[in-house]
Amino acid sequence: MNDERRTPYYIYNSKILQRTLCAINAARDERQHVHYAIKANANPLVLEHIRQAGLGVDCVSGGEVQRAIEVGFDPAKIVFAGIGKADWEIRLALKAGIGCFNVESMPELEVINELALEAGVVARVALRINPNVDAHTHAKITTGLNENKFGLAMEDMQPAIRRASELRGVEYVGLHFHIGSQITEFEPFRLLAERINELQDELEQAGITTTRTINVGGGLGIDYEHPDDCPVPDFESYFRTFREALQLRPHQEMHCELGRAVVAQCGCLISRVLYVKEGHQKKFVICDAGMTDLVRPAMYGSYHQCDNLTAQQDQRTTDTYDVVGPICESSDVFLKGYQMPTTRRGDLLAFRSAGAYGEIMASQYNCRSLPASYME
Ligand SMILES: *Cc1c(COP(=O)(O)O)cnc(C)c1O
Repeated sequence: MNDERRTPYYIYNSKILQRTLCAINAARDERQHVHYAIKANANPLVLEHIRQAGLGVDCVSGGEVQRAIEVGFDPAKIVFAGIGKADWEIRLALKAGIGCFNVESMPELEVINELALEAGVVARVALRINPNVDAHTHAKITTGLNENKFGLAMEDMQPAIRRASELRGVEYVGLHFHIGSQITEFEPFRLLAERINELQDELEQAGITTTRTINVGGGLGIDYEHPDDCPVPDFESYFRTFREALQLRPHQEMHCELGRAVVAQCGCLISRVLYVKEGHQKKFVICDAGMTDLVRPAMYGSYHQCDNLTAQQDQRTTDTYDVVGPICESSDVFLKGYQMPTTRRGDLLAFRSAGAYGEIMASQYNCRSLPASYME
């Protein structure tokens, strides 16, 4: 660990990222395509590895489309979701010639049609359908249940496809789904595949046979409890679940949008201990990273393992601490009652599994600088 760098900062491990990307490409077959969900981490150092591995990108804003193009992703491999696409974002994506818009409402379909006609192009669109499948995950990151702001209800699928086929500015290419995030069982994915099979049967019975792509979204989780033992998610089981359960028609391809599973384990947030405060009931490790650098614990109650890198170099007893940041918010707590080596001012800490939804969610609250980043 480089002691000269100003903390806090993110450090990405290229070996782990590379191993993860190889595992993805080994586990998928030629009809299974991956669009990396760039919202998980848009650091150019990270994106370069992902681009070289041949993945496409899943974007949820015009800024993300722009970033993906800037770092050299093939526009044809970009898909663009999001319930509130502004006109400028749609225009930007049309101009770039992205692969597909994942459309989330009827009014959006009409607007994309108008803007495409204006630009003299035809926009490929997939319809995001809400499959009402329970992802068994955190309430703030489940998206596939009926009462949700995302996507179209299943009963609106056929009218939407019919409407799309009437419009000259859009071409219907397929269906899109996304049931949630940090899903660590394969059962919800199997249920999603079965739901898609039912919807496909309904479409065929109604004489609609123009569906070419089935995009199953993202959501595969990672093991936050065991970053050393399980650095690479079980992509084998993930892709096999869909190969076995999803009835792709001969002319169809499956797409997916993995985010967290691609980048979470390759990143650590490095922080220095400022003070160890001995309270009356407990001890606090106060470090220079806070919720402005890694918001997941404060926002979702998430767990990130914390390693004391300095203590790894000598023998120390252990103690129990609350590990907290310096921000003026009582939710700025990384860990409570956490057992770790006896910690001192100046020690370097590593918050593990922080590559996804870490750096990208950093803020300047309290007029703080954004964390730096390095790839090793
Ligand atoms: C967030 C998101 C993803 C990626 O989710 P992960 O849990 O990081 O895999 C994929 N698709 C859509 C539409 C999303 O909003």
